[in-house]
Amino acid sequence: MRKELETKLCTDFPELYANLQYKQFECLDGWYDMIYRLSANLANIISNHDDMKPNVKEKWGALVFYMYSYTDEIHEAIAKASEESLRTCETCGGEGKLLQDSWSWRTICDGCEVERERQWLRSKAGDFDAVPSMGDMD
Ligand SMILES: [Zn+2]
Repeated sequence: MRKELETKLCTDFPELYANLQYKQFECLDGWYDMIYRLSANLANIISNHDDMKPNVKEKWGALVFYMYSYTDEIHEAIAKASEESLRTCETCGGEGKLLQDSWSWRTICDGCEVERERQWLRSKAGDFDAVPSMGDMD
């Protein structure tokens, strides 16, 4: 996640993220709104506990939010956001779906998937830059 978004979460929810290091949010920017809403929810629930330090990441295409201690309310709030994450594009926050291939799982929308594939092909082409592409041959 972009540093400015992480900073905003840490600033707005010091009770959750005061002790976190930069790069604690291991997912893409598209989930920021969802994480923000979950954070507001959790901050509310745990306002009397300062020993709960969460860790946020993407795993198998879904939002994973670890905390050191849990209540039923916290379980429920996290489960709801995790479910929502499976319908939310990790990249842009739009409506996405879970895609799986042999090496990665991701929740992504059609537009971002096309762009991701294009970038992947470009980076793959970069690995073989000794071989001229069709465009280079004249
Ligand atoms: Zn998208």
